[in-house]
Amino acid sequence: MKLRNLSLLSLIACAMTACSSGQNDYEIFPIQDNLSPRMMGRTLFPDAPDSLIAELGLEEGIPASVSAFLVKTDGNEILFDAANGAPDSQLMPVLESLQTTADEVDYIFITHLHGDHIGGLLKEGEAVFSNALVYINKTEYDAWMAMEGRQSEGLRNICNAYGERVKTFTLEDELPCGIEAVEAYGHTPGHTAYRVGDALIAGDVMHGTALQARYPEFSAGFDMDKEMSVKTRRAILKMAEEGVKVYGMHFPAPYHL
Ligand SMILES: [Zn+2]
Repeated sequence: MKLRNLSLLSLIACAMTACSSGQNDYEIFPIQDNLSPRMMGRTLFPDAPDSLIAELGLEEGIPASVSAFLVKTDGNEILFDAANGAPDSQLMPVLESLQTTADEVDYIFITHLHGDHIGGLLKEGEAVFSNALVYINKTEYDAWMAMEGRQSEGLRNICNAYGERVKTFTLEDELPCGIEAVEAYGHTPGHTAYRVGDALIAGDVMHGTALQARYPEFSAGFDMDKEMSVKTRRAILKMAEEGVKVYGMHFPAPYHL
């Protein structure tokens, strides 16, 4: 194992979870893509009153991350989102430290089509993952394809690079490796969480857990349908109360609730 970033890797070791569902055993590895600390600005939550932000000590911002997750199960390597492909992206070094190469990733499940979740799929317009099938909820795919102007460009570029390896699915469809898609609409039209054994990889259901895990009524400015995102957040927090380990792409270490 090549230790490029000791502190990051020790965090990953702490956060790693093994879980099982039916015949599948899953190991979940968070991949923090950002190298320097990441805070969500207080202004991302314009509806949260100053008094509450002060009470929670979040005036300077809310601790967060830009993360993806690698799941290993039964000889398969599954990536959940691909972060944003920034020049200092930690996606590849962390995959390497987990003894996985881009070519070895079998499946990529996308939570939604914002750039900080799909940017890492491409490098100079080419597919980074040469063998992986890329799964996108059809509701999300159709909504972004129908968007005006440059908004659909990210998705179109992925389709050009990955061709037939882009697979759309509905919530009723059976997915590989026993992964289940869970409706988590609101942040984007087809925003999707994934059930992985006893855990849930919940995408962008929260952008500031220190605020929203206690006060789910406050949506982030990025949430396209705020009312629906509140409903989704409450439903996922209920799952967490019932014992599901909920991971998120913008949760700070240890990347789960
Ligand atoms: Zn995001």
